[in-house]
Amino acid sequence: MNRHWIKKPSFSIFIGFIFLFFFNPLLWAANSSSFFQFSTINALLEGVYKGELTIQKLLQKGQIGLGTFDALDGEMVIIDGRCFRVNSQGMVEEVTADETTPFAAIAQEPSSNSRNLFLIDSYEELELELNKMIENPNLIYIIHIEADFQTLKARSVHRQTKPYPPLTEVTPDQAIFEFTEMSGDLVGFWCPQYFEGICVPGYHFHFIDKDLKHGGHLLDCSFLLGSVRVSPCYDVFMQLPRNQEFARANLAGKRIDEIQQVEK
Ligand SMILES: [Zn+2]
Repeated sequence: MNRHWIKKPSFSIFIGFIFLFFFNPLLWAANSSSFFQFSTINALLEGVYKGELTIQKLLQKGQIGLGTFDALDGEMVIIDGRCFRVNSQGMVEEVTADETTPFAAIAQEPSSNSRNLFLIDSYEELELELNKMIENPNLIYIIHIEADFQTLKARSVHRQTKPYPPLTEVTPDQAIFEFTEMSGDLVGFWCPQYFEGICVPGYHFHFIDKDLKHGGHLLDCSFLLGSVRVSPCYDVFMQLPRNQEFARANLAGKRIDEIQQVEK
């Protein structure tokens, strides 16, 4: 038998597999998450803190995410499909399924291979490193970082009473926690600027430590070695509140200065 007859088809099959691997949209889609958000950041800025969506329903949409609770009662961290509250004393508790949220974002766990992050001195430096992994900045990305943090600064907000003040009046009173030598997870999102008014544009992370005892909204951090997984979100879903507080809120206008003030 002429050996060329054997080699040529197998070479074609090999090329075919390579082509399928790199150009098959189904394979690309495999490393993507779907993003779900309840309510908008501008509604939260306006003081729409009334919880409406149950944690049970929220957790049907993904395994990893962040948000807050009815009456702005602490920072929400969702990890491994479980929902935790970091209250204003810095204590972490798992939240029951019947509690409600006025604002939350959730996605599927990123399925990409993890990449290492080295010698991160600050949140700004972390952002610069993450920028290299956001291949399409016009998409939302879900981001999961695990690290042994040298330092980490986080905050939580106090439960509010009615009439609810706008968020800019709440955050000056926030509780700030500073941790050293703590292993944990950052869960969060990259959100493009054009989602302004809906999401927090740029990066937004919440922290929870490996013992599930400490956490909060990330303000700063440093670490020597960490790992990160990211997934783009091509499918973006929103659900909006049905309550009167949301209906009456003025959600118009560019409010990036207010977002910077309450998130940084
Ligand atoms: Zn936050």
